[in-house]
Amino acid sequence: MTTLLPTSTVGSLPKPAWLAKPEVLWSPWELEGDVLVEGKHDALRSAVQEQERRGLDIISDGEQTRQHFVTTFIENLDGVDFENRETVRIRNRYDASVPTVVGAVSRRGPVFVEDAAFLRAQTDRPIKWALPGPMTMIDTLSDRYYGSREKLAWEFATILNDEARELEAAGVDIIQFDEPAFNVFFDEMKDWGIAALERAAEGLRAETAVHICYGYGIKANTDWKATLGSEWRQYEESFPLLQRSSIDIVSLESHHSNVPIDLVELVRGKKVMLGALDVASERIETPEEVADTLRRALQFVDADKLIPSSNCGMAPLPRRVAFDKVSALTAGAALLREELAD
Ligand SMILES: [Zn+2]
Repeated sequence: MTTLLPTSTVGSLPKPAWLAKPEVLWSPWELEGDVLVEGKHDALRSAVQEQERRGLDIISDGEQTRQHFVTTFIENLDGVDFENRETVRIRNRYDASVPTVVGAVSRRGPVFVEDAAFLRAQTDRPIKWALPGPMTMIDTLSDRYYGSREKLAWEFATILNDEARELEAAGVDIIQFDEPAFNVFFDEMKDWGIAALERAAEGLRAETAVHICYGYGIKANTDWKATLGSEWRQYEESFPLLQRSSIDIVSLESHHSNVPIDLVELVRGKKVMLGALDVASERIETPEEVADTLRRALQFVDADKLIPSSNCGMAPLPRRVAFDKVSALTAGAALLREELAD
C-alpha cells in the first residue's frame, strides 16, 4: 500500500433494510433460500461501491453476509450443537443464549472463502476480512466436551488458520482477528490468548491485524464503560505482548474514548489502525475532529504506520450515518495528509 494514511473501517456496516431489520444487532434475515444468497451478494456489492465512493482505501465486506461476527463462523463447524443452547455471560457483561460444544470441533469446509472471492472481484483496492479471534470464540460458547478453555482455543486457532490461508489464496490482503475478549480476560490472554492468536495467524503472507475494543454502541457496553473510570488503561495489558508478537497491525479505539493516547507507544513498530470515528454516537464527526484525533496519535506512531479507522463495527447505526462518518474519516485523513506533505 503506497497511500499515506490508508483509510479503513473495523468491518461491519449497516445492512440494507430489505436484507435485515436496520439498527438492530444480529437481526434475522428478511429473505431466505436462493433469494437470500443473491440478496447478500447485492448488499456486499453495494457496500463496496459506497465505501469506494466515500473514498476508503481498504475495502471490507461490511459483514453483509453474516448475522453475527462470531456465531456465523461457529455455525459452520462440526462439534457444536445449535439446538442445545445455554445462557452464558458474555465478556462478564451481558447474558446471551449460545450454542454448546458437544464434540471435537472441526471445519466442515471453507466458511467465508466464496464471499471473500466475491468481494475480491468487486474492487481493485486492497481488501480486509475479519474473523473472530480464538478467545472471543470461546467466550461466545458453552463447552461440555473439552473442559479446558485453553484446549478449545487451540482447536479454534488451528481451524481459523486453515480458513485464513484460504482467504489469503482468494486474494485477501489483510486478515483481521477480532479479540474484544483481550480487554477483559487478562490472565488468560497472557497465559494462552496471545499464543492462540499467533497460531491463528501463523504462516500467512497477508498482513494480519488484531482488533480490540470496548464494543458496539449498545447499552450493555455503554453501561460497562461507565464503570471503567476516567482513564481506560485495559490496552496496557495486551499491547506490550502484541508489540512482541507476530501480528502486523493493532486496531484500537480512540475518538471520544477514555483511552489515554500515549498507550499507542506500547505497540511502537507495529502498524496502528486508530479509531477516529465514535460508533456509539450518531453525530457525524467533522473532518477537523478526525484529523485532530489522528494528529494526536502521531506522537506515538510513525505516519507511515497509521491507518485511520473506526472505533468498532458500525452495523447498529443508521445506514446514512455510518456512511457519512466514513466520508468524515476520509476527509479528515486527507486534511492530515496535506499537512504532512507541507
Ligand atoms: Zn470492536
